[in-house]
Amino acid sequence: MDHCHTSGLISLEQALDTMLGQVVPLDETESIALNDACGRITATPVISPIDVPPFANSAMDGYAVRISELNANAPLPIAGKAFAGAPFNDAWPANSCIRIMTGAPIPAGTEAVIMQEQAEVSEAGVRFNAVVHAGQNVRLAGEDIQQGASVLPAGVRLGAAQLPLLASLGISELRVMRKLKVAVFSTGDELQPVGQPLQDGQIYDTNRFAVRLMLEQMGCEVIDLGIIRDDRTALRAAFEQADRSADLVISSGGVSVGEADYTKQMLDELGEVGFWKLAIKPGKPFAFGKLQHAWFCGLPGNPVSAALTFYQLVQPLLAKLAGHHEWHLPPRLRARALTPLKKAPGRLDFQRGVFASNALGELEVSTTGHQGSHVFSSFSQGNCFIVLERDRGAVAAGEMVEIEPFNMLLRN
Ligand code: AMP
Ligand code: MG
Repeated sequence: MDHCHTSGLISLEQALDTMLGQVVPLDETESIALNDACGRITATPVISPIDVPPFANSAMDGYAVRISELNANAPLPIAGKAFAGAPFNDAWPANSCIRIMTGAPIPAGTEAVIMQEQAEVSEAGVRFNAVVHAGQNVRLAGEDIQQGASVLPAGVRLGAAQLPLLASLGISELRVMRKLKVAVFSTGDELQPVGQPLQDGQIYDTNRFAVRLMLEQMGCEVIDLGIIRDDRTALRAAFEQADRSADLVISSGGVSVGEADYTKQMLDELGEVGFWKLAIKPGKPFAFGKLQHAWFCGLPGNPVSAALTFYQLVQPLLAKLAGHHEWHLPPRLRARALTPLKKAPGRLDFQRGVFASNALGELEVSTTGHQGSHVFSSFSQGNCFIVLERDRGAVAAGEMVEIEPFNMLLRN
C-alpha cells in the first residue's frame, strides 16, 4: 500500500490522544477486604498505620550487650534469653549478656548485638572476639516504614508485589476503585458460539472470547451479550441494552463497509461515534465514541485485528477509566531481526515475533510466520510485537527493529 492510500488514515498516537483526552476516570470507590483486593486499583494513597518493624529487634542470632561491659574482656554470664515472640523483660544484672535470636525485641539497655559466630561460650560465660559498634545488628523501630508514611499512591493495581506489603502493615480493608462494567457482543450472521456444530459457511466466534478474557484479566465486570445477527432491530436492541448496563460497550465486526455492516448506521443514530481508519496493521477500521451513557469501542471483525486494537487502544482506555494511573505497556526494546520481515510503507505494523537474548546477551527476534489478520495462532506462538515504523519498508535479516514484549494480557 502506498502513501496515496494511507495519507487519510489517522495514527495510533492521534487515536489514543483523542480517546484518552475525552474520558475521565470513574469517581466511584468502595471499601473491600484485603483478601478480595487482588487485581483491584487503589482509590486513595495507602498510609501505614504502624511502624515497621513495630519495635527494635535483633538482626542476628547472638548476644545483646552493653558496650562498656566488654572493655575488661572478661566472660559475661548469660542473664536470660530473648526469642522472637518471647521478649526478655526481667531486670538485666550488670556485667552480663542476654542470649537473643533474630527478630526478638531487644532488651532495654541493649547497645549492640554480637553475632554468635563471634562468641566463645564457656562455663564462665561468653567472651567476644569482635570489634563492636554501637547499634550493630539492631533493627530500629520504623526503620523500614514509619507510621503515617504513604506506602502506595492512588491508582496502583494490587498484586503479589503490593498485597503482602499491606498485610505486613496489618491492613485488612482498603478503598479501591469500583470495577468497570463492560458489555461485549460480536456481530455477524456467520458466527457460532463454541460448543455448537458449524453449519455451512459458519465460523466460531473468537473475538468475544478473546475480549472477555482480556477484560477479566484487567479486573472488569463483563456483561456478555452474545452474538448479534446482522439485523438492524437486533443490533439496535443490543446497543440499547449494553448502553443501559455498562460503562463501556465493546462490539466486534461490522465496522467495515460491507453490505451487512450495520454498526456504523446504528451508531450514527444512537450516539456520537467516530469511525476511524487507523494507520496501523492489522486493525485498520476502528470506532470510538459515546452512546447515551456508555463509551463505545467498535473492534474490527478479523480476530487478530480485534485482539490487537483491544490491546493497543482499548487497554489504555480501560486503564484510564478504571483510575489505574500507573498503567503502561512494557518498554519497547531494540532487537536484531533474524528473519526477513515483509512490510510496505504506509502503516505502523504490529507483527508477532519471538524474542530471546543470545549468548552475548543481545536481543534477537524472529517472525512467528504468516501475519494474516485471521492467523490467531501468531499470538500463541509469539511473545512480542515487532513494531515496524509507518514509513518503513521490508526488513532484511540482520536489521535492527523495535520489539514490544507482550504484557499479562497475551503472555503465559
Ligand atoms: P466484518 O468486520 O464483520 O466484515 O468481519 C471481518 C472478518 O472477520 C470476516 O471474515 C468475519 O467473518 C470475521 N469475523 C467477524 N467477527 C468475528 C468473530 N467474532 N470471530 C471470528 N471472526 C470474526
Ligand atoms: Mg460482519
